[in-house]
Amino acid sequence: SQMTVKELADAMDRPTQHVFDCLEQINFAIRSKRDSYIINKLDVITKIVQLSGFRYQMGGPQEIDFEKLELELDAKDDSRSKRPKPQATHLIRRPPVVTIMGHVDHGKTTLLDSLRGSHIVETEFGGITQHIGAFNVKDKNRMITFLDTPGHAAFSMMRSRGAKCTDIVVLVIAAEDGVMAQTVESINHAKSTGCPIIVAINKIDKVNEAQINRVKQELLKYELIPEEMGGEVQIVPISALKKTNLDVLKEEIWTQAEIMELKGDPKGLVEGYIIESTQDLHKGKLATVLIQRGTLMKGDYLVAGKTWCKVKYIYDENSQNLQKASLSQAVQIMGWKDLPHSGDEVLQVDTEHRAKEICDLRHKKEMLVKQKQDLEIIKKKRAEHDEFYHTELKKKHLSGIRYSISKMEPDSKSDSHVNPSGQIEVENNSIKKLHVIVKADVDGSLEAILKVLETYDAMDKVALDLVHFEVGQVKKSDLEMADTFNALIYCFNIPVNHSVEKEDNKNIKHFNVIYKLFDDLKEQLNNLAPLVE
Ligand code: GDP
Repeated sequence: SQMTVKELADAMDRPTQHVFDCLEQINFAIRSKRDSYIINKLDVITKIVQLSGFRYQMGGPQEIDFEKLELELDAKDDSRSKRPKPQATHLIRRPPVVTIMGHVDHGKTTLLDSLRGSHIVETEFGGITQHIGAFNVKDKNRMITFLDTPGHAAFSMMRSRGAKCTDIVVLVIAAEDGVMAQTVESINHAKSTGCPIIVAINKIDKVNEAQINRVKQELLKYELIPEEMGGEVQIVPISALKKTNLDVLKEEIWTQAEIMELKGDPKGLVEGYIIESTQDLHKGKLATVLIQRGTLMKGDYLVAGKTWCKVKYIYDENSQNLQKASLSQAVQIMGWKDLPHSGDEVLQVDTEHRAKEICDLRHKKEMLVKQKQDLEIIKKKRAEHDEFYHTELKKKHLSGIRYSISKMEPDSKSDSHVNPSGQIEVENNSIKKLHVIVKADVDGSLEAILKVLETYDAMDKVALDLVHFEVGQVKKSDLEMADTFNALIYCFNIPVNHSVEKEDNKNIKHFNVIYKLFDDLKEQLNNLAPLVE
């Protein structure tokens, strides 16, 4: 594995100076500071790549079997799907988890506030209601968990991460506006996740019966057929502001939950999802977890994403310190090492050791994925880079330089020749030309040479005609071309191809030091027509 400084820099999308800086940093002595300088030590390349913030190992990056490594890591990781399913006999009824959706300004916030407000528990600590992303509404021995994550966060989570965090959707529609854009969106959200919808026609305190009926009529278009019209959708006219019919709404939710026969396993290791997380000035890292299996106790070990927690305290939305939390409850947990992300799967593990191990595995997996992406980016850049050489650069050099001399008079050998676009160029100027073919070891050095040749383009009495250039050893076709155009073949850093090159061929010039190549070239140009002054 070898790369030129230029290639390495390009692969990392950095200037060549960056690579030189890295070389200096690792005290790697180089003989000269050239872009075409070849680094032929794999460990040096790897070191530079790492210094540059890329995490992957070089040395044939393609050889890394990401799939296999990922599978290996996954095999050691825990996920809900790998755990033993609860036994049917363990299952008990659990409360419904509800998300309120609807068009902006139709009253979602007001409804949540009214539902929550009527249930603030005045405790000896003052019972200040906190926003923790969810709250519970109780009635004797029944409960509903309302998620109040902003916007459609709960649904985005469900769709993007497959986190099933909601059982029922309450769709709020302001009676005076009816079905609006986001109402339709909400309906689609609910349908795509298979959640039944209960419609709350809101703001009935300021509309008449006809407007309410109009909304019901509109809903038919979206296959939401009210029960009174023979369908299955419960429709509750409410006033979120005046708290009218909120009890009816809650009853409908419980009825719907009854129909759904929502069940869960109160035993076994805790499972759930992160609803949201926050950094508290006093309590530190907090995350709200929706419990979907097991019973959470203080001292339990949980993992979520790449972080873990020893449950220190369990709080409800009224900042009450709970001893435990059960099915469908959303509680705030204190004790996280880092903040988990909403939608992360929460799993209880037996020991701290296992919790750390899982986080470690996931870190590794993340690095692996990052590595894979970096590599893809680098590969893409390389491809673009190559394309640049082989099309753009070629076009530029071959046609560009030719063009500058195309109006010149022909020299003895070639008074016309075919240019890359297939046209015959007649050169009719008295300026002499030096025809050259350039062969080099790698793209980097080829480019460096071409860049310098460009500067020879506009000389007065003598012109340089770049006939052809290419990476690789001298081939038979190069000799033929040299013969046709009476060209010199300049080789940089490539071994003599004994099967093609004859030892006495003075027209093939090999160099391993770039400035010597240029010195020779200048001499040749001078020989043709001594430069003025
Ligand atoms: P959101 O954008 O869906 O959360 O809507 P909000 O809850 O912020 O309500 C938007 C506006 O409608 C506010 O000015 C509320 O006071 C008002 N509003 C909400 N519910 C009712 C209601 O039942 N009756 C009346 N008259 N106004 C309401």
